[in-house]
Amino acid sequence: MRDHAHLVHPGDPEFDEVGEVELTHLISDLITGLGEDVDREGLVKTPHRVERSLKFLTSGYTTSVDEVLNGALFAAEGSEMVVVKGIEFYSLCEHHMLPFFGTAHIAYIPGDTILGLSKFARVVDVFARRMQVQERMTSQIADALERSLKPRGIAVVTEASHLCMMMRGVEKQGSSTRTSAMRGAFKDDARTRQEFLEAIR
Ligand code: ZN
Repeated sequence: MRDHAHLVHPGDPEFDEVGEVELTHLISDLITGLGEDVDREGLVKTPHRVERSLKFLTSGYTTSVDEVLNGALFAAEGSEMVVVKGIEFYSLCEHHMLPFFGTAHIAYIPGDTILGLSKFARVVDVFARRMQVQERMTSQIADALERSLKPRGIAVVTEASHLCMMMRGVEKQGSSTRTSAMRGAFKDDARTRQEFLEAIR
């Protein structure tokens, strides 16, 4: 929803007003609440640093897909599958606000429009840099690309390690989670889907 609503960007005076002062204080309180002395030397600047860091890690809220794709959509005819694999991403799980990170693989079969290859990574970042669950992030990437590219098919697979599982809870260091979203030809045609899955293996 916020993608289409009034956008406030990091760097805008308005953004700093709503965010900065308040967040720094909240982070200060959080550190104190954890039993630390926020006035000791090593921590004095930490609330400010954490605030900047969190703003960056959640900058997807203030970035619109339309803006990212602006100028990179080209009219083209083509019916061959395009696969962009191994796109790195870093996100925050919405249950624990701990990172989950890994790679995204995207494939599409163009309709009348193709997209500059570097933009796929930008679209991934728009949805990764938020508080997320991996399944939803994967669908949102597919939906956004489907909406803008109107392809004959789009497929997104993400593989991620979740620090909330690795550092706490079940403490399964080696586990990774794979989610996928298949649309159009990738959903309807098993051979197309198979070709993609083989390409990213
Ligand atoms: Zn979690």
